[in-house]
Amino acid sequence: MIFLKTEDEIELMRAANQLVAATLAEVGKAIKPGVTTAQLDHLAEEFIRDHGAIPTFKGFPNPYGGPFPGSICTSINDVVVHGIPSEKDVLQDGDIISVDCGTLLNGYNGDSCYTFQVGTVAEDVLKLLRTTKASLYKGIEAAVAGHRIGDIGYAVQTYCEAQGYGVVREFVGHGIGREMHEDPQVPNYGRRGQGKQIKNGLCIAIEPMITMGSHEIYMMPDKWTIKTRDGKPAAHFEHTMAIHHGKAEILSSFDEIEKFEASCSH
Ligand code: MG
Ligand code: MG
Repeated sequence: MIFLKTEDEIELMRAANQLVAATLAEVGKAIKPGVTTAQLDHLAEEFIRDHGAIPTFKGFPNPYGGPFPGSICTSINDVVVHGIPSEKDVLQDGDIISVDCGTLLNGYNGDSCYTFQVGTVAEDVLKLLRTTKASLYKGIEAAVAGHRIGDIGYAVQTYCEAQGYGVVREFVGHGIGREMHEDPQVPNYGRRGQGKQIKNGLCIAIEPMITMGSHEIYMMPDKWTIKTRDGKPAAHFEHTMAIHHGKAEILSSFDEIEKFEASCSH
């Protein structure tokens, strides 16, 4: 069942997502060679709780095993999604790391992910990051009232596959609101004109998970960590948005991250 949101609810969603954006920016500023993903996790959890919210991922149930132990997912290089923060994961120069973050604030959820570079990253990997982020915005442009959910996936898939990349099938975007995962599912692949119609008040997370090689994945024995079958890197970018006045209004934000990234490259 799809729950369309009122204006008031969209504002609550915006607050939760702006906190996710601020958390990702804080984490991003701490990312450098030598830092562990456990350190990033502690930083994120403290930041979220200091702002009166709950890190939604912590204790998130798993149909295959135990609950998620971290407050963020930290997915390095060939880890596609759901990497568990650990003292053993020390960031190395040249790595990429996707940080996925969720908050529950005043009863509503925020959810966003950004793939960061660690130190100096190879040009072909940077291209994967640029393409994945651009594909997210292709999906967002397609998320207008009157279109269908399949139009979003079609936009993401055609853009990424044209550049030789793989589109992960097993994990998808989703409706979001009082629950982090609501209907409808929002795949990163699809056919134009197929699926549920997009209406004003619909709140969804679009989150392309794009691989440099084959789209095939596998689950590690921890029952969380998802890796590419061929060991090639994967990128993941996610925004939460509301369909508002006919088009997608992004409730999360990469602005602070991008400002910081730009300041580092000079
Ligand atoms: Mg997420
Ligand atoms: Mg999500």
